[in-house]
Amino acid sequence: MTPNDNLRPDLAPKAPLCILCGADATNRILYPGILKCPSCGLVFADTHISPDEIRQLYRQGYFFGDEYLNYLEDKPFLQENFSARLRTIRKFSNGGNLFEIGCAYGFFLDLARHHWKAEGCDISAQACSYAQQQGLNAVCSEFLDLSRPENHYDVVALWDTIEHLSRPDLYIEKGARLLKSGGVLCVTTGDIGSTMARMRKRRWRLIHPPTHLYYFDRLTMQKLLLKNGLDVVHFEHCGYSRSVQQMLYSLLVLNRETPLRKSIYAVLKPLFAFSLYLNLFDIMFVIARKK
Ligand SMILES: [Zn+2]
Repeated sequence: MTPNDNLRPDLAPKAPLCILCGADATNRILYPGILKCPSCGLVFADTHISPDEIRQLYRQGYFFGDEYLNYLEDKPFLQENFSARLRTIRKFSNGGNLFEIGCAYGFFLDLARHHWKAEGCDISAQACSYAQQQGLNAVCSEFLDLSRPENHYDVVALWDTIEHLSRPDLYIEKGARLLKSGGVLCVTTGDIGSTMARMRKRRWRLIHPPTHLYYFDRLTMQKLLLKNGLDVVHFEHCGYSRSVQQMLYSLLVLNRETPLRKSIYAVLKPLFAFSLYLNLFDIMFVIARKK
């Protein structure tokens, strides 16, 4: 570093400003590494992460061992969850154009294409090429770099995606612009205002930066949507069908991998090839309509 570097604004340490209201959240520590905006209450990780670093996090290992045990093997369980959400969305939109931000392997698009002209994007090339092989319209791109017509879509969806983004406000802003008037934006994410999150505090299972960067509750989510001309028309805490093998993997192996743990898991795995429906009331499913 040369003395002149001090004058370069891009090298100066940035104060963590709230993306929702602009307030300075410096030293407003909720948990180690996690800040809470003193003005609007938005909770976020105290980290500056570049788009390149984010891409690194979602290399193939993310879907096969790092975060998910084997994403493709979980397809039936994931699609059970998506089917339930589709039934709810269809109360608000019946056909037209649908766009999914962060479509991964296309398991949702695969179901949605029966009701809408469905397309999506994801930053994982591996995931997109799998989706394309299934005949789905999935583009490997960062959503913010993608050119799509405005006022064109009836549905824009982000499933368990918003918490991973370094600037969720920009995604919602662009998503809202793509929607027609009367179209709906659909989001699922953890609810840090839920009883479970408040009880577990920093040990809540969804607190894990740097893959999870933003932690909304009902109010901060509503505020973000409203700021972009979207009125909440549906709110629920949704349950999930989960692969019991995946849960066992999370308990035994994830983040504490040893040869012994892996062997125990390999022995137990065949006994747990089924799913379990769980609702811990800490994941919110929100649908908001463009004015
Ligand atoms: Zn704020």
